[in-house]
Amino acid sequence: MSIRTGKQYLDSLHDDRVVYIDGRRVRDVTNDAAFRGAAQTIAELYDLQHGAADHEVLTVHDAAIGERVARSHLAPRSQELLLARGKALRRVAEHTCGLLARTPDFMNVGISALAAARSIFDDSASGRAFSANVAAYHEHVKRNDLTMTHVQVNPQVDRTKQVFEQQHDIALKIVKETDAGFVVNGSRWVGTLAQVANEVVVMPSVVVSNDTKGDEYAFAFAIPAATPGLRMISRPSMVPSGAGHFLDNPLSQQFEEGDAVLIFDNVFVPWERTFVYRDPGLCNRIYKLTYLGEHYTHQTMSRTIAKAEFMTALAAHVARSIKVDAFPNVQGMITELMIFTEIQRALVDRAEAQATATPFGTIAPNRWPLHSAQLNFHERYARMIEVVRTIAAGGLVGVPSYADTRGEIGDLVEQYFASAGQSSRERIQLMRLAADATISAFAGRQVVYERYYQGDPVRRAIGYFNDYPKEPLYARIEQMLADHRRKADLN
Ligand SMILES: Cc1cc2nc3c(=O)[nH]c(=O)nc-3n(C[C@H](O)[C@H](O)[C@H](O)COP(=O)(O)OP(=O)(O)OC[C@H]3O[C@@H](n4cnc5c(N)ncnc54)[C@H](O)[C@@H]3O)c2cc1C
Repeated sequence: MSIRTGKQYLDSLHDDRVVYIDGRRVRDVTNDAAFRGAAQTIAELYDLQHGAADHEVLTVHDAAIGERVARSHLAPRSQELLLARGKALRRVAEHTCGLLARTPDFMNVGISALAAARSIFDDSASGRAFSANVAAYHEHVKRNDLTMTHVQVNPQVDRTKQVFEQQHDIALKIVKETDAGFVVNGSRWVGTLAQVANEVVVMPSVVVSNDTKGDEYAFAFAIPAATPGLRMISRPSMVPSGAGHFLDNPLSQQFEEGDAVLIFDNVFVPWERTFVYRDPGLCNRIYKLTYLGEHYTHQTMSRTIAKAEFMTALAAHVARSIKVDAFPNVQGMITELMIFTEIQRALVDRAEAQATATPFGTIAPNRWPLHSAQLNFHERYARMIEVVRTIAAGGLVGVPSYADTRGEIGDLVEQYFASAGQSSRERIQLMRLAADATISAFAGRQVVYERYYQGDPVRRAIGYFNDYPKEPLYARIEQMLADHRRKADLN
């Protein structure tokens, strides 16, 4: 198969997966208001791989299979391939303005990084060797072009305690071992896009104590989304239930990707799908050992470029539509967004230009510009929303639903909602887009997503500080102080 079509992807979701939302079981995620937008958008991305304009950018010949595969499935082994992957990641992100964040390339990049670094999976505390499983899983998802979700966070119960000390023992853990595999019970929070993914990858939770009591919570594996015993409990949808017209909420309706808590009710995991077993030490080190952080962040920051570009364009367009771009204060705010977009582009470009060779024969983008971009983005994104809100002002809440342009007050609406540069319909469409991007439930979730999807920024910043090469900083000031002393002596 190797590169799927949108139809093949949509067909693959008819698999008896167990998804709940708002007190009901969803029988067909491709035809449910909460999930069909995301499913349709992912299907469009699969189709893009076949289109003449994007085929070369998004896919590459894979010698192992002898066919073309999605570029994101191959960990780059040269600078040229890293740049080509970056181009593909940006192309995918452009299609969703970076608003549907968990496009399949995110997990593709992650699994390809694990497969390249497979040797570390044999250094297992359990005495078992899992490198062949990681390699086989990578081949499987690559060959079948599958969409994956991942879950790695234990539930919030009492964050002052270790996972094995919780008052409510609801975190996912190993409850039984057999010759063929093991059984897990409990929950993981939260899988974005889970409801429309083919595979669930349970990634290591990275805050497992090295105490042996943490062993039963320390694992990594992957199973199909329709595995018996696996239930997905969705948060309520961000698609407005009373959505009058597609043009009233075009972002929510296309890019609402869904988040779900995954409950594993005595789910059986075969050994061949196991990557880490009873090994807290490996769980805690896996991101650094495999360069997973760098590879993931290559995808996520390529995505944020598209998002920053979209928000900057939206701010400029809204300002022009009511001619407030004539005012220096408004020009200043749009310039702020332009500068921020340029910085985001520059950081990703630098990460690609100063990539590092890994011990696994792959090339990883430079971590410092990428992590800087990642830690910076969530606050800058919140500011971008604030700027669009500030510029659009009452226009965000003044326009009616697009449906009113066609209802019984259509004539009135045509008369009263025109702006300097736009007809009533054009202005309503633009302002409804701006409202969807900045004041909707969908917009609120986007802000929370950017803050947390890659971990808690507070602790990530501490990790950044701890890992940053500080000796050159100290040496530089020591050198300056010595120079000053020398000059003082001379004077
Ligand atoms: C929209 C969204 C989508 C997500 N999608 C996914 C996904 O697809 N897959 C996945 O695996 N995860 C996903 N996540 C989960 C994400 O990885 C976590 O939200 C993130 O790691 C933070 O963990 P937490 O939510 O449990 O917050 P907590 O760790 O409980 O933190 C809550 C607050 O307490 C503070 N805090 C907690 N502990 C400490 C401490 N020890 N020291 C200092 N401060 C502390 C934090 O700074 C934070 O302000 C998603 C999250 C969101 C919001």
